[in-house]
Amino acid sequence: MVQIRIDRSSTVPVYLQIDRELRALIASGELPQGAMLPPERQLATSLGVNRTTILNAYRELKADGLVESRVGSGTRVSGGVTASPGPVGPLPWSQLVRPSGEEAPDPLVRDLLELTERADVISFAVGLPAPDLLPLDLVGRLHAAMMREAGPAALLHSPTEGLTQFRETLCGLMAGRGVSCAVPEVLVTSGSQQGLDLLARVLLDPGDEVVVEEPSYFGALQVFRRAGARLLGVPTDRDGMRTDVLESVLARRRPKLIYTLPTFQNPSGAVLAGGRRRQLLDLAYRFQVPVVEDDPYSELRYEGNALPPLKALDDHGHVIYASSFSKVLFPGLRVGWLVAPPALVRRLALVKQSVDLHTTTPGQWLIHHFIRDGHFQRHVAAARQAYRIRRDAMDEALRAAAPPALEWARPEGGFYFWCRLPASVAQGRLFALAAAEGVAYLPGEACFAGGAAAGFMRLNFTYPTCDQIRVGVAALAAALRTAVRARADGGAERGGTPPIV
Ligand code: PMP
Repeated sequence: MVQIRIDRSSTVPVYLQIDRELRALIASGELPQGAMLPPERQLATSLGVNRTTILNAYRELKADGLVESRVGSGTRVSGGVTASPGPVGPLPWSQLVRPSGEEAPDPLVRDLLELTERADVISFAVGLPAPDLLPLDLVGRLHAAMMREAGPAALLHSPTEGLTQFRETLCGLMAGRGVSCAVPEVLVTSGSQQGLDLLARVLLDPGDEVVVEEPSYFGALQVFRRAGARLLGVPTDRDGMRTDVLESVLARRRPKLIYTLPTFQNPSGAVLAGGRRRQLLDLAYRFQVPVVEDDPYSELRYEGNALPPLKALDDHGHVIYASSFSKVLFPGLRVGWLVAPPALVRRLALVKQSVDLHTTTPGQWLIHHFIRDGHFQRHVAAARQAYRIRRDAMDEALRAAAPPALEWARPEGGFYFWCRLPASVAQGRLFALAAAEGVAYLPGEACFAGGAAAGFMRLNFTYPTCDQIRVGVAALAAALRTAVRARADGGAERGGTPPIV
């Protein structure tokens, strides 16, 4: 019998461990060409694993042509490991990529982006600005000016931390948000997604704990999970993160970070109340935990009074601030920024250098000039006006068409309605029914650290036009009514995340 060792504490799935061991035995000649592999049932018993595990391991070997099996005569080694003069086979990519698991990139974002490109689907699923508001002519003129004024420099490398003039401009923007900072505290990032990723790379070790809101921005949950962090979910209500619960968590655990979206939270739209902002900071000081404040939406307030970002209230340098131009300007340019203590910015920049050298030079140049020439404030004002109208259109459409048991609160700003589904809705069915009606939304379960909380959907109102909002909400309401009926009729709910189609 072949000797196979498996390590049950490893993150590598057991079937892949078996596959690798067998591969090594074949490569070393211990299992020569033509040798029989142990029968699946026998090997499963001797290793104390499920037979499916062995079947999966053999399937991998078969896929790469290392073994072959015939019904009734078992599995034997074929001649595939040593270099053969025969035709070149495909590389076994499934073996070359690192094992998946928590690290596996969630295909949700990719699939949702693909979905928005389908002309036959009205998408409430993604968090994108209105395409019809993009000032194409103006950007075209600025682009031509860039080529004239900056010449080749516009198309060459720029400093990892960002173009110095642009970082100065960002300090000015931050002053408008109540934060006083200097150039060495600013790192330009390739979108704030990269800012979050760099922070995770620099601050987190596998096994570290990170406090996140429940629900939270799913792209950040992905980043922290990939870094091997354990997520400690703290519930939210209409006033943002429950700081009383945060306090009890901090009293018991030692998280490395608190990740929060205080203003127009993604996905819930909640705004952290003024008193809670102070409480959150006091807790961060008392327990000495850094706070990552993710703030891409605060400029987009449609009513009510602005609250200062945590960073503006932070007297002791505990807050790392992340923001982006993706929601207010152009997500395709991939420009965001971090504000952090200079020592941390230097570390982050070193890591950024190994990731992408620097953020796109023309993107920085264009946004720098867009702001410098006064277009930014005008554009944001126009976006606020347009998005307020779209938000109201969605609110009215939901009131007119949604079944009475659907609950939502009209957000004061940001991009999303966060709706609690009637308990009677079969969730998996709903997504499929909505897709069949030509409308997409983000299933709420993607936004929970625990993964289990179901019963919500996130609807974006900035990307679709008012007409699309009306048509899409009516279609969604029809799908909801069918899903409620399906449940009432005893229709079975499919488990798990529905495929994004
Ligand atoms: N943070 C939050 C809260 C977001 O909603 C998003 C975009 N959905 C990001 C970060 C990432 O945005 P980007 O990388 O485009 O700047």
